[in-house]
Amino acid sequence: MSNLILENFIGGRRVGEAGGEAAVVTNPATGETVGTVRLDDTRAAEAAVAAAREAFPAWAATPVGERCQFFFRYKEILEKNFEELAQMIVREHGKTSPEARGDVRRGIDCIEFACAAPALMMGSSLPQIAVSSSFCRTDDEGGVGIDSSADRVPLGVCVGITPFNFPVMVPMWMWPMAIACGNTFVLKPSEKDPGSTIREVELAHEAGLPAGVLNLVQGGPKVVDHLITHDDVRAVSFVGSTKVAKHIYSTATAAGKRAQCMAGAKNCMIVMPDANREAAIDGMLGSCFGNTGQRCLAGSVLIAVGDAADWLVPALVEKAKEIKVRAGDDPQVDMGPLIDEASKQRVLGFIEAGVEDGADLALDGRAHEMPAQGCFVGPTIFDNVTSAMRICTEEIFGPVLSVMREPTLDAAIAAVNRSQYGNMAVIFTSSGYNARRFKMHTDVGMVGINVGVPAPMAVFPFAGWKDSFFGSLHANGEDSVRFYTEYKITVTRWM
Ligand code: NAD
Repeated sequence: MSNLILENFIGGRRVGEAGGEAAVVTNPATGETVGTVRLDDTRAAEAAVAAAREAFPAWAATPVGERCQFFFRYKEILEKNFEELAQMIVREHGKTSPEARGDVRRGIDCIEFACAAPALMMGSSLPQIAVSSSFCRTDDEGGVGIDSSADRVPLGVCVGITPFNFPVMVPMWMWPMAIACGNTFVLKPSEKDPGSTIREVELAHEAGLPAGVLNLVQGGPKVVDHLITHDDVRAVSFVGSTKVAKHIYSTATAAGKRAQCMAGAKNCMIVMPDANREAAIDGMLGSCFGNTGQRCLAGSVLIAVGDAADWLVPALVEKAKEIKVRAGDDPQVDMGPLIDEASKQRVLGFIEAGVEDGADLALDGRAHEMPAQGCFVGPTIFDNVTSAMRICTEEIFGPVLSVMREPTLDAAIAAVNRSQYGNMAVIFTSSGYNARRFKMHTDVGMVGINVGVPAPMAVFPFAGWKDSFFGSLHANGEDSVRFYTEYKITVTRWM
C-alpha cells in the first residue's frame, strides 16, 4: 500500500493534510509502510473540539431512547464489517486473526451495553422530604408538599486518549457510553495503529450518527496536552502506560477536568501444588504469550508455590517451544510480532537484564524459530527470579515470563502485594479455601480463579488499583455512566 495520510475525522468527514511532525505507521511483521500520521496538528484538535461543542446542545436534547437507536444500527454495521476491521488490526498491530477478532468482538460488547443507557441513566426521587416550620406550613394533605429528584445529565465535550494494543476495543470503552449519555466526544487514538480506529468512527457515521457528535484527531503529546487542558472540554478518559497516565491525570485535573486514567500493569499468576496441571499450563501460556504479551491483563510473573515449579517449568518450556511465531495473517500462526522496533529493542533489553541479574534463562526467545525480518521476539521464560530483579518489577509488555518460587500461599500473596501495580492477579488451585484466601488478601482490582485473563465483561467496571489506575470512576459498567454524567438535584413544591 502507498504512503497514505491517516486522516482525522471531524464534523462528520475525513480531513487531514500532510506536513509538520509525523509518524510512519508500519506493518510490524513485514516493515511495509501503511501510512503517515500527523503528530502536532493542534489546529485539527481545535476544530474537533469546536465541532463537538457545536453538536452538543442538539445531541443532549435528543431523547436517550432515540440516541440508542444509533447503537442498534451501528452494531449491525460492525457485524457486516467485522472481518475488514479485524484484518486492519492484523496489518497495523500484528495481532493474529483470532486475537484481532477478539479485539472487535469485545468492542461490540460495549456497544451492546450502551444500548441499556435509558435504564442506566435513570435518576432517583424522594417525595415529602421536608417537615413543616413557621416558614413552611403543613398543606391540606398533612405534609409540606416538597419533593426532590436527582437527574443524570451529560457533561458536554469529553475527550479519550487510547493506546495501541486494542485499537478497536479500548476506544469503545469510552465514546459509546459517553455519547449514549448525551455528551459529544473527541477521540485521539494511538499514533502506532490508528487505521482501524478511524474506520470505527467512519462506520459510526454510516450508521447515522450526526456530524460532530464523535470526532477523531490524530496526534502525539502536543495534541494530547492541547485537548486535555482545553476550556471547552469537561472530562478526559485515558488508557496507556503509567508514566503517561500520571501526566494526563495531574494535568487534566489541574485544569479542572474530570479524569479517569487506566494505566500499566505487572500481573502475577500463583500456581498451587494442588492445581489442575493442564488447565494451569494452558491458562498461563495464553495469559503470558497471547497478544505477544501486549495486554494490560497479561500474566507476566508466575509464582510457583511449594514444589509446583518442579512440574510447571519443564511443561511450560516444552509447550512454549512449540508456539509458532509468524506474521498475524499466516494461517499457522500462534503468536505475532511486537508493535514496533522500539518495543522489540525494549523487550530484548529486558531479556539481557534478566540474564545480568542472575535469573535462569529456561527458554530464550531470541533463539526461537521466527521470521528474520520484522519485530519478532519468541516466547521467553526465566526461572528462579527474585523480587529485586527488573524483570520481576517492571512492565515488559512482551512475551517474557518470570517464574518465582515461594514456600506458601501467604508468601506468594505478599509477593503479589509488593508490586506498585494492582491491575490483576490469578490463582490456579483446586482448593476453595486457597482461592478465597487469595481473593480476600490480594491488593488488585481484578482477580482470576483458574482463569488466566480475568477480563471483565463490559457490564462490569475495568477495575485496576494502585499505579494501574488514577481516578475514582473506572471505565465500563455503571461507573462509566457516573463518569460521563453529573447529577442535577431538583427540590419542588407546588401550591
Ligand atoms: P502510551 O502511554 O505510550 O500511549 C498511550 C496514549 O498516550 C497514546 O495515544 C499516545 O499518543 C499518548 N501519549 C504518549 N506519550 C504521551 C505524552 N508524553 N503526553 C501525552 N500523551 C502521550 O501507551 P501504549 O504504549 O500505547 O500502550 C501500552 C500501555 O497501555 C501499557 O502500559 C499497558 O499496560 C497500558 N494499557 C492499560 C490498560 C488498562 O486498562 N489498564 C489497557 C490497555 C493498555
